Amino acid sequence: MKIVFCNLKAADAPFEREIREAIEAVLDAGQFINGSDVEKFEQEFAHFCGVKHCVAMNSGTAALHLILRAYGIGPGDLVVTVPNSFIATAEAIVHSGAKPIFVDIDPKTLTMDPQRLENLLKSSQGKHIKAILPVHLYGLPADMESIVRLAKNFGVKVVEDACQAHGAKYKGKRAGSLADAAAFSFYPSKNLGAYGDGGGVTTDDPLLSERLLSLRNHGRSGKNSHRCVGYTERLDTLQAAILRVKLRHLQRSIDARRDLARLFTESFSDLPVATPPDVKGEREHVYHLYVLQSKKRDALLNHLKEKGVDADIHYPIPIPFQEAFDDLGHSEKDFPEAVWASQEILSLPLYPGMTSSQAKAVVAAVRSFFAT
Ligand SMILES: *Cc1c(COP(=O)(O)O)cnc(C)c1O
Repeated sequence: MKIVFCNLKAADAPFEREIREAIEAVLDAGQFINGSDVEKFEQEFAHFCGVKHCVAMNSGTAALHLILRAYGIGPGDLVVTVPNSFIATAEAIVHSGAKPIFVDIDPKTLTMDPQRLENLLKSSQGKHIKAILPVHLYGLPADMESIVRLAKNFGVKVVEDACQAHGAKYKGKRAGSLADAAAFSFYPSKNLGAYGDGGGVTTDDPLLSERLLSLRNHGRSGKNSHRCVGYTERLDTLQAAILRVKLRHLQRSIDARRDLARLFTESFSDLPVATPPDVKGEREHVYHLYVLQSKKRDALLNHLKEKGVDADIHYPIPIPFQEAFDDLGHSEKDFPEAVWASQEILSLPLYPGMTSSQAKAVVAAVRSFFAT
C-alpha cells in the first residue's frame, strides 16, 4: 500500500460541496478583492482564536513581516526566534530590516528554551532586542507563560508564529491569543488551508489591527489617500470564502489529527523512538506534523520509503545553516539542541481523512523496521 504524506482531497471530501457553493457565490457576486467574505472570515477566525481582531493577509510570511513593520521594528533592531523553523520565520525578520538572532530550543518540546532566552535578553545584545518570535512548531505551543513574562520584564513585544498551530491550546487558551499578536498561514497543507496562498494576524490590539489594515492595502487611509508606503498583501475574496467553510469544520479536523496521533503514539510505546511530547493538561498539540525522534533516523526513513510510506523531515537544515544566512556566520556549536534534533526527527504521514487501514499500514511499516 502506498501512503502519501498528505492528501488534501481526502481531507476536504466531507465538505467539498460546501466549498464549491462558496466559490460559486463569489463568482456570482463578482467582488474578488475586499469582498464581504474577507471581513466575515476575519470576524469568525478572531472569534475562534478568542481575540478581538483578525487582519487577513495573503501569506503567513506577510503576516509576520507586517506585524514587525506595524510595531516600527527595523534596521538596527534584533528579533529573537528559533533555529528550527520553516525559513519564512527568519525571512520576515529580514524583510522588516531587523536582524534575526536565534536562541536554542528545549530538547523535550523542540520549542524556544526560556532559560536560554533569558540569558540572551541579559547579554550585551539584549538592549537591541525589540521582539521575540516563538514558533509553535508542528502544532505544539511554545512555553508562552515563561516567554511572555520575560518579555514584560524586558519591555519587548512577543509575536507568536502560529503558522502550524491553528486551534492549538496553551492552558486553555488558543494559539493566536497568547501574546501581543500572532501570525497564521493558510497555505493549502496547513491545518486550516486555503486553495492557494493565505495568511492572517490575530491580536487584541486595536491600533495594531488598524495599522495592518492599511499596510496590507498600499498604506491606504481612504480610497485615494495613502498615509504610508504599504504593500499588496490582502487575502483574496475567493480564499476567504473557502476558509470560512473550512473553519466551520476545523475542530473536527483537529480531533481527527489528534485521534490518529494517539493511535501512533500508543502503537510505538515499546519502540526505541521518542514520540511527540504531550504536555499534559498544559498544552494541546494539533499535530500539523507528527514528528518522531530516532537515533537511526536515516535508516528508518529509507525503510519507510521502501515500504511505500511517504515520510519526510521538517526541517533537515536549521535556518542559521542555510546558504541564505551564511552572512550571520553561525557554527553548529551555537545551537547544539537544534542540530541534534535535525539529525533525529522524522515526520510521518498524518492528515484528516486518512483511513484506519492507512494508519495501521504506517504503524506496521515503522514497527517492521525495529523488528529486523
Ligand atoms: C508555513 C509557515 C510560515 C509561512 O507561511 P506562508 O503562508 O507559506 O508564507 C511561517 N512559519 C512557519 C512555522 C510555517 O510553517
